[in-house]
Amino acid sequence: MVRGERLEGLGESKPACGTALGPLFCFARLRHEVSKRVSTRTPVDGRRKEKSHDLRKEAGQLVKGPGALRGADPGRHQVSQADSSTNKRWHPQLTTMSCVPVVDDVGVCANCGKQGSDVVKLKDCTACRLVKYCGVDCQRAHRKLHKKACKRRAAEIKDEQLYSQGHERPERDFCPLCTLPIQLPMTKYSIMNVCCMKRICNGCDFAAQKRGMLDCPFCRTPIPDNDADTLAMIQARVAKKDPEAIFYLGLKYFFGHLGLQKDARKGVVLYTEAAELGSVDALFNLGHAYDTGEGVQEDKVKATEFYTKAALQGHVMSRHNLGACENQKGNYDCTVRHLLTSAKMGLKESLESIKEAFLRGQATKAQYAEALKGYQDAVEEMKSHDRDEANPNRRA
Ligand SMILES: [Zn+2]
Ligand SMILES: [Zn+2]
Ligand SMILES: [Zn+2]
Ligand SMILES: [Zn+2]
Repeated sequence: MVRGERLEGLGESKPACGTALGPLFCFARLRHEVSKRVSTRTPVDGRRKEKSHDLRKEAGQLVKGPGALRGADPGRHQVSQADSSTNKRWHPQLTTMSCVPVVDDVGVCANCGKQGSDVVKLKDCTACRLVKYCGVDCQRAHRKLHKKACKRRAAEIKDEQLYSQGHERPERDFCPLCTLPIQLPMTKYSIMNVCCMKRICNGCDFAAQKRGMLDCPFCRTPIPDNDADTLAMIQARVAKKDPEAIFYLGLKYFFGHLGLQKDARKGVVLYTEAAELGSVDALFNLGHAYDTGEGVQEDKVKATEFYTKAALQGHVMSRHNLGACENQKGNYDCTVRHLLTSAKMGLKESLESIKEAFLRGQATKAQYAEALKGYQDAVEEMKSHDRDEANPNRRA
C-alpha cells in the first residue's frame, strides 16, 4: 500500500552539520520515527495505538527544567566568547576608511568630494549604498580604499535580510483543504498523494476517511496500491515539469524507494532541477546533501547557501539548520536568532535547542521566553478539531 506516503524531508541520512548539533538537529531521528509508521496506510482506528503526545504539555515541561535535555553535549564545540563574537555590528561612522557616508539625498563623491547637483548626478555604490560617486572613474580610483568597508557593509545588508525575511511559512506548508498551516515536521502530520502532489493534513485526511472517501481527498483520484503505479503517476507529473514531482522522484532515487535502485547522485540531479523550478523542499534537501556529503562532494558553504535560500522562503527546517551551522561555528548570537525564528514558526526542536542554549548561557532568559511564547502561539494556530482527532500521538 502506498497511499498517503509522507513527503520526505530528510530521509535516512546522517544528521546535518556534522556532529556538533546532534541534539540540536534531530530530523534524521524524527524521520526514523516517522518511517516506522508511514508507507502503509493505517486504518482510521489503527491510529489509536500511538502514545499520547501533547505538544502544549511538552512545551510546558520544557520550562520546568534541565532534566528534559537529551543527547550529547552540544556545547563541546564551543569556542571562547571572544572568538565567537563574529556578529559585531559595523557602523559607518566608526570606519577609518576615507569613504564619506551618504548623509543626504545629494551627498558628495566619496573620491573627489564633488557635490551632487542637477548637473553632477552621483551614483550609489550598489553593493553597500554607503557612498556615492560622480562617475565610474572615481569609483574605480576609490576602489582600493573602499573595498574593505564595502564588503563589510554588503555582508551586513545580507545579514539583515537573512534575519528579517522568511518568517512566514510558504504556501505549500498550508493544507489546501482546511487552509491551516501543517504541524511540524510535516512528514509526520500530513500525507502526500502522488496524483496531485498535494499535501493534505492528517486532520482532513482523517475526516475524509471517516466519511468513507478512500480516494485522494483533494483530487478524488483513486490511490495507487503498488509501487509501479505510484511511480508511473509521479513520472506522469515529472513529464509535465511539476517541480514537486521532480523533487519527489529525486527523493525516491536518493533513498531507493518504490523499487528504484538507490542512487543518491541521481537524486541530487533531480533535486537541482526541482529547485530551479521553484521547489523549496528541494533546496532544503540539496542543502542537506551538501551538508552530509551524500550524493555530492561535501561542501558546507554550499549547504549553507541552499539552506539560506530555502529559509528566506520560510522553510522552517532550513532555518533550524542554519542555526545549527552557526552553532557549530561558535556563532551563538546568530544561532539563537535563527532558532528563535524557527521556534516561533512552530518547530519544537528549535525551542528545545534554545532552551539548551539558555542553560549554557548562550541565550538570554528573554529569548527563551520569547521562543516559548512564539512556539505556543504557532502550535495553537495549527490546531483543529479534525487534527486533534487524527493526530496519532494524541490518541491514547
Ligand atoms: Zn568624483
Ligand atoms: Zn560600496
Ligand atoms: Zn487540512
Ligand atoms: Zn490527488
